[in-house]
Amino acid sequence: MISKILIANRGEIAVRIIRTCREMGIKTVAVYSTSDETSIHRKLADEDVCIGAAPSAYSYLSIAKIIMTAKMVGADAIHPGYGFLSESSIFAQSCKENGIVFIGPSPELIEIMGDKANGRKAMDEAGVPIMRGSKILKTEKDAISAAEEIGYPVILKASAGGGGRGMRICHNETELKRNYPITKTEIKAAFNSEDVYIEKYLTSAHHIEVQILGDMHGNVIHIGERECSIQRNHQKLIEETPSPFITNKVRQEIRHAAIKGLTGKGYVGAGTLEFLVDSEMNYYFIEMNTRIQVEHTISEMLSSIDLIKQQILAASGKKLSYRQEDISLKGHAIECRINAEDCYNDFRPSPGKITAVYIPQGLGVRVDTHIYHGYEIPPHYDSMVAKLVTWGEDRSDAIKKMKRSLSEFVIDGIETTIPFHLKMLDDPNFAKGQCDTKYLNQFKM
Ligand code: ADP
Repeated sequence: MISKILIANRGEIAVRIIRTCREMGIKTVAVYSTSDETSIHRKLADEDVCIGAAPSAYSYLSIAKIIMTAKMVGADAIHPGYGFLSESSIFAQSCKENGIVFIGPSPELIEIMGDKANGRKAMDEAGVPIMRGSKILKTEKDAISAAEEIGYPVILKASAGGGGRGMRICHNETELKRNYPITKTEIKAAFNSEDVYIEKYLTSAHHIEVQILGDMHGNVIHIGERECSIQRNHQKLIEETPSPFITNKVRQEIRHAAIKGLTGKGYVGAGTLEFLVDSEMNYYFIEMNTRIQVEHTISEMLSSIDLIKQQILAASGKKLSYRQEDISLKGHAIECRINAEDCYNDFRPSPGKITAVYIPQGLGVRVDTHIYHGYEIPPHYDSMVAKLVTWGEDRSDAIKKMKRSLSEFVIDGIETTIPFHLKMLDDPNFAKGQCDTKYLNQFKM
């Protein structure tokens, strides 16, 4: 059994993981950078170790420092959270070689599923519908002929991509020729890989993803789907479950496709299969995330299952605590990502000192955050400062609770996305549950 976990992350997700560990009687070790000296995850963990300077490359992305720290403090497992090293097969492999349990799937599966082009191939072979697209493109000429075959518009994508980066839409050959070299250079710098491929670009799509759990005993179950179509620059801002857009027939089919895609692969822990659904309800797999996701909270609210706990149990070789027939998804949950951004000024980052904070509470309200009165948000990392989640008996109830909670939420000293969320929740198209992934392009604050 795992008795001490090092959390290779920061912010709200580090706090979230520490909470579950404490409930499970597992000791925790926080690592932090010099700019996170006042971060709350340090205080909540049983032990804390400074691992380096503010730039992630010197701290949260340093495999050598994190493994060395785990050895030094005697941690038997590492939880990577999301972002940073969570989808690095090299990191998972280093953990293995050093006798440390990596809380996630095997390095081999991260390599296959964490890479978009490989993941597409694996799902295609498993009989899951994938978005029409190409293999890794070797030359610009390959890109042009692939685009002709698929039909414009197409989207250029980095196989190692993530966080909405490295994607470019091309409506014709001229745009493709212009974007191809730019994308290559950009992704080399961001992901240290030049592997690029193209997909058919869907002009109206909904992002629907399925939460999966697997264990070492061959069990794979789903915890329902999430609708994540409210996005800005391909980055999610609001997520909800169940999806208000898809029909019940498609809901069952997508959940089933996700299980089919992972069955027999030896997948351990939490994972998410992402799909795009077009206006005719055709669905296509786009990529898999082999880690816990920011929006796991809404699935927890509907299922009452602690997904971090299931990840830890699965990594220690235990069977999942639930069979598919035990999963009962009740009500409706919504998450609003509260970012330190000025939504009146093109969502410009707004780091700084929090001079006052009041966190909303009440029945069906959950806030996952690392901020506190006087906390100074460092400019080096992700801008998300809180996740506000509400649960209601139905969608309208969850929306009412969200509006009420947003209006109670006070974060002074910085600009946040709270005004955006308040406006969005009042939008008649949001109320209808019909906003696609491009909806925010025309949304005015
Ligand atoms: P990342 O891993 O960088 O988040 P994804 O492949 O998950 O990238 O895509 C993020 C978002 O980009 C999707 O939710 C969707 O809004 C948009 N997108 C990606 N692929 C396509 C596509 N083929 N057609 C239309 N939109 C797409």
